[in-house]
Amino acid sequence: MEIKGIVTTQEHQFYPSFSLLKKCFKISIDQKMNDLKQTKVKVKVHPFNQKQKKYCRLLKKYYSIAPPEIIDAIKIEIFHPKKNLKERKKAYKEFESIILALRPIFKEIVYEKNRIFKEDGDKNYFDFITRRRGIPPEKLALFFERVDEVIKDINQNLPLPKKPPQWYWSKFNIPDSLYFFCEVHRYSIPDDVYRLAKGVFPEVEKIIPRIQTGPVTDFNPSAKFIKETKSIFIKVPSKPSIYNALSFVHELGHALSFIRLADEGIDPLSKSYYWHETEAYKFKFQFEEQCLPGEIKNASRGEILGNFSGTFFEYEIYNNPDQDFNKAYAKAINRCYPGRANQEENPFYVIESGFMNRPCDPTASVVCVELLLSKLSS
Ligand SMILES: [Zn+2]
Repeated sequence: MEIKGIVTTQEHQFYPSFSLLKKCFKISIDQKMNDLKQTKVKVKVHPFNQKQKKYCRLLKKYYSIAPPEIIDAIKIEIFHPKKNLKERKKAYKEFESIILALRPIFKEIVYEKNRIFKEDGDKNYFDFITRRRGIPPEKLALFFERVDEVIKDINQNLPLPKKPPQWYWSKFNIPDSLYFFCEVHRYSIPDDVYRLAKGVFPEVEKIIPRIQTGPVTDFNPSAKFIKETKSIFIKVPSKPSIYNALSFVHELGHALSFIRLADEGIDPLSKSYYWHETEAYKFKFQFEEQCLPGEIKNASRGEILGNFSGTFFEYEIYNNPDQDFNKAYAKAINRCYPGRANQEENPFYVIESGFMNRPCDPTASVVCVELLLSKLSS
């Protein structure tokens, strides 16, 4: 895709974890809630082709109940880390009618997406994305076979407060152990990341003059390869924080492999999304291991569980939409926290905006299992 001389090779796409939302929201939630009460926001959705007309109609219906910004704000209202269980339940009651109204449309959209992609020869929407991302089928199989070993290892090392309340593992919370470190560790971007990487990764020092950074203009951090100058433009939130620093490290991993390829005369666009994500995560894991305190590395690995639960859930619902999604979501989360989470049902997938406005994307999950398995056995 060519935009004003810039070649887009990688758009970093993942499920917006709570940590990401915390980073991105600057507008006061109260103001958003007032907007919701006073105005009917119309969300424009344009179909790519005739086949997608019904899908777009459903999306419009979904967002006419609550537009994306409001959905994200509701999520923060319920799950704000400073809130106790009573406050969270109160917030849930306040928005329960919205959550209930979104549920049936969410399901209709899953059926509709499957229908569209079945017509194009894929088994379902999940299969379509897996193929498009270039995930080799044997890697996806490896993921489902051995993900539980990685989950166990991450859980064993998860840095948590001594005794988290029992509801920490309930549907009224989204576990996020990086949160416990965000007050103490505020790495600046890009300076602190470069400083930490320099001594350990000499190639980072070499490419710094070829990297430019700027603010995120859409929702996602991204790294773009500029063909003409063989340089990189990284878009990442610049506010010093552990979350933003780790996002930047991931994008720096993309930058390293773009430049390595370009200098060898290979077009970075010739590699699949899956290939690029593997390279970025390889670097991120090395950086975490060699440049950060162990507990931050372990907390950051905990964030991967959020990717896993999303992948479990989406695999389930696209392969078998004739089921109770509340139960499927609870089951997906329980699998990520064995012996800890024991949820019976969880309706909050409808306010996990990534499920609706991004393709279901198992790439990060598959890549992380592949890379972390090799660390388990070594
Ligand atoms: Zn990426």
